[in-house]
Amino acid sequence: MTYQPPVRDHAFLLRDVLEIEKYADLPGFEDAAIDVVDQIIQEAGRFTSEVLAPLNAVGDKQGCTWNPDHTVTTPKGFKEAYAQLVAGGWPALGADTAYGGQGLPHVVNLSFSEMSSSANMAFSMYPGLTHGAYSAILNGGSPEQKALYLPHLVSGNWGGTMNLTEPHCGTDLGLLRTKAVPQADGTYRISGTKIWISGGEHDMAENIVHLVLARIEGAPEGVRGISLFIVPKFIPDAEGKPGARNSVFCDGLEEKMGIHGNATCVIRHEESTGWLVGEENRGLALMFVMMNEARIGVGLQGIAQAEAAYQAAATFAKERLQGRSLTGPKNPDGPADPIIVHPDVRRMLMDSRAVIEAGRAFLFWTACRATWPTPALTRLCARRAMTTWP
Ligand SMILES: Cc1cc2nc3c(=O)[nH]c(=O)nc-3n(C[C@H](O)[C@H](O)[C@H](O)COP(=O)(O)OP(=O)(O)OC[C@H]3O[C@@H](n4cnc5c(N)ncnc54)[C@H](O)[C@@H]3O)c2cc1C
Repeated sequence: MTYQPPVRDHAFLLRDVLEIEKYADLPGFEDAAIDVVDQIIQEAGRFTSEVLAPLNAVGDKQGCTWNPDHTVTTPKGFKEAYAQLVAGGWPALGADTAYGGQGLPHVVNLSFSEMSSSANMAFSMYPGLTHGAYSAILNGGSPEQKALYLPHLVSGNWGGTMNLTEPHCGTDLGLLRTKAVPQADGTYRISGTKIWISGGEHDMAENIVHLVLARIEGAPEGVRGISLFIVPKFIPDAEGKPGARNSVFCDGLEEKMGIHGNATCVIRHEESTGWLVGEENRGLALMFVMMNEARIGVGLQGIAQAEAAYQAAATFAKERLQGRSLTGPKNPDGPADPIIVHPDVRRMLMDSRAVIEAGRAFLFWTACRATWPTPALTRLCARRAMTTWP
């Protein structure tokens, strides 16, 4: 199937429905003029349909490969596409200009994310998780951590992950057992196994920054004893470049239907070196920054997959020949008419389209009000616009 990016629908929503230009006086948003946003959406449509979509089937059929040296090879073409993603500055769209971002409203980033997710969901999860890691460090990291990690996450040269789930604990993170032992130099030694870690290991970024939930020795049981740590795959050296290999390893890949191109990893922390983010035992609150972003991301994935499914169904309905139209043959030279002539088929397609367009409008509206590049702008915008539905 050829993916047709819904560029006009996105532009209509942002310009005419949400009127994002009315935020243009907010600090840092001077550059979000609608004609600039229009161009970004056009280019997002081109990149996602021409570069990412052709890799979707390849990625799922070939999948990622785990290697005995604990590395993971992504499907053919992913590495080159990721290099284009980084070169095009796409990971920086909605990020803070202080760290190399473009400072555009998160909703513009969402527009790009929806298209990437429709075109190739497995691929789009890599930058998606990286953006989540960026947001968690932006909100809870120390100035040094922000300076060290954020520019790399914003550029996409380094990837990000969230390490929450363990074999015995998913929804109820209060049960987690991964242990953190404080060291004299202020770091922590992290030990434990995490599962289902999206983008946990791959060959596309020069470093991977794991955000890990663990319990510091002696911390209270349950959710009140969980802390958040940065565990880089390669420990940054004095110049901030990837240095010594940290003892965090991918022990295998797990099955996730339809997203074989995304490396879903079992991650083993074998006394890996970690740096505490924020305060001890306050990790879950910080991780919720990332999880809340992931929630909007999961809603977006639903819209993106529905859009892709709608496009496939509409194409099929125009090609599949069955029966004749009630108002006389519409394909008189063929053996039958395409099924799109039947009112009930059209009804089903229009139902899908209505749900998708309403869902997308709700998603973009939420993003306009809830997620801006910096916490201060998020609060400012929420105060100003929370009460209005355009
Ligand atoms: C596509 C995908 C990507 C993922 N990526 C990551 C990742 O990058 N990092 C990571 O750490 N994890 C990741 N996960 C794992 C995910 O976080 C867990 O699957 C999730 O936390 C649920 O845990 P579980 O699967 O163990 O389900 P369980 O916790 O075993 O729950 C099973 C079922 O019981 C229900 N349930 C549980 N408790 C309650 C309750 N109190 N009340 C009502 N119902 C309840 C749940 O809703 C669910 O339906 C990913 C999962 C998926 C599907």
